[in-house]
Amino acid sequence: MYSSLSKENPSLATEKDRSLFNILRGFEEFMLNPEGIIISSNLEVINITGYEEWEVMGNHIAIFYTPEDRQQEKPKADLKTAKKQGQLLVNDWRVKKRNARFWAKMKITSLTDQDGTHSGFRVVLKDSTHKALYNHRVKRIKDEYLNLFNNAYTGIFKFRMNDLRVLLLNEKAVEILGKDESADISFQEFFVEEGRCTRLIEHLIAHEKVEGFEFQIKTSSREQRWVSIGCRFFAEQGFVEGILIDVSESKKQLLELQKLNHELDQFIYHASHDLRSPLTTILGVVNLIHLDEPSPIIKNYAQLIAERVHHLDGLLKDLVSITYNNKSEPKAELLHVETEVRNILKEFHHQYNTVQAFLTISGEVEFVTDAVRFRTIMRNLVSNALKYHNPAVASFMKVTIQADEKLLSLTIEDNGLGIEQDYLDKIFRMFFRATVQAKGTGLGLFITKAMIDKLGGHIAVSSRPMHGSTFLVELPALDINQ
Ligand code: ADP
Repeated sequence: MYSSLSKENPSLATEKDRSLFNILRGFEEFMLNPEGIIISSNLEVINITGYEEWEVMGNHIAIFYTPEDRQQEKPKADLKTAKKQGQLLVNDWRVKKRNARFWAKMKITSLTDQDGTHSGFRVVLKDSTHKALYNHRVKRIKDEYLNLFNNAYTGIFKFRMNDLRVLLLNEKAVEILGKDESADISFQEFFVEEGRCTRLIEHLIAHEKVEGFEFQIKTSSREQRWVSIGCRFFAEQGFVEGILIDVSESKKQLLELQKLNHELDQFIYHASHDLRSPLTTILGVVNLIHLDEPSPIIKNYAQLIAERVHHLDGLLKDLVSITYNNKSEPKAELLHVETEVRNILKEFHHQYNTVQAFLTISGEVEFVTDAVRFRTIMRNLVSNALKYHNPAVASFMKVTIQADEKLLSLTIEDNGLGIEQDYLDKIFRMFFRATVQAKGTGLGLFITKAMIDKLGGHIAVSSRPMHGSTFLVELPALDINQ
């Protein structure tokens, strides 16, 4: 053990301290004479190399070098450099006793006597194999991650929440957004509308994540581009990380489709309106025929014309309702529910006076909803309950309404012809008619459902043929301040 060293040379007290420190850290330490021969070591305490102290004493430090290094005289060269520079640090493969290799951290320090003459070397060896392997693995994972990150099909981004500074963009994100993060930019700069970015941030603060959030991005060309992002706000770390995809093509197609839809709606709306006035004229002429006391045959023809015109008029009215529902947003109004429903019941009373109508209203009498849509929904459901009554029984229709500040529940029950089970899920489709027993366009329930959807409510039906049907509607109250 070279603890004797400091006895030989008391001035090496600091050397002793350092040696102790090396022992504690699991290093092997060797003292060499100026020729590189091992004259002392700490091998009794630690054993990286597998040698006993007596085995290494008197050997050249080269015994720890690989045969290749020895052949190239690396040991000598290292000592020479250490002597010249005072110290040399190398990370390289070294060999243990039975030739096992290990990744060593080797520090060679040149030592001098008090009078300044070179007295030898201290060599400290550390086995860093585990660390090297670990670093190697970390590097591989990092390389793979980087590869994945940069070659990903989707864009990946990261920005700081407090100042929106972009921290990271992968190659795909740079390609989509047209800028890279090195430009010291704010995430907001990618947005055409600043407000949209504010909405994103507010959403992230409230919910910590967002999916399918679309916004139009600023481009240097006149071309319009959109991206869709999904990201998460890591509140503790203060950053937002996520992916982005270019949805410009589908967005353009969608906008085009919306435009066409709008044009089609406009066309149907205007055409239906315009077609209704000649119908009114025809009905007027039919009335004139009746006034002229026509023959029974002419009277019959006039009757048939009037029926077809009424049907056509009903169809046009329905088409107007559909386009109205598509193009206009719900308008919140305070309705007196009972008055509204009674008025609608009155409209049909004279036509179906054999059906007994009951109305039960509980809870609030006033409710905030869209008047036009509420009336259309009521009219369609009431007229169906009356139209499809069963003439063979004492018919009734029961309307029950329960409303509070938030919700209106409406039930319309009849004991009419009912609907076949197989048709129940089809009756809300456009132009679907489950019977030919009464006249109709097959649009009433389609419009009813579309309007209920627009008001954020829902509709359900239960029915048994020849027993009757019950329609249940729930409507959430609209916000009067909107
Ligand atoms: P229309 O009444 O013009 O045929 P709707 O869309 O209002 O069209 O209704 C679709 C179909 O649903 C009707 O053809 C009818 O067969 C059935 N239906 C709707 N309401 C009732 C009801 N209360 N009783 C029986 N059948 C009904």
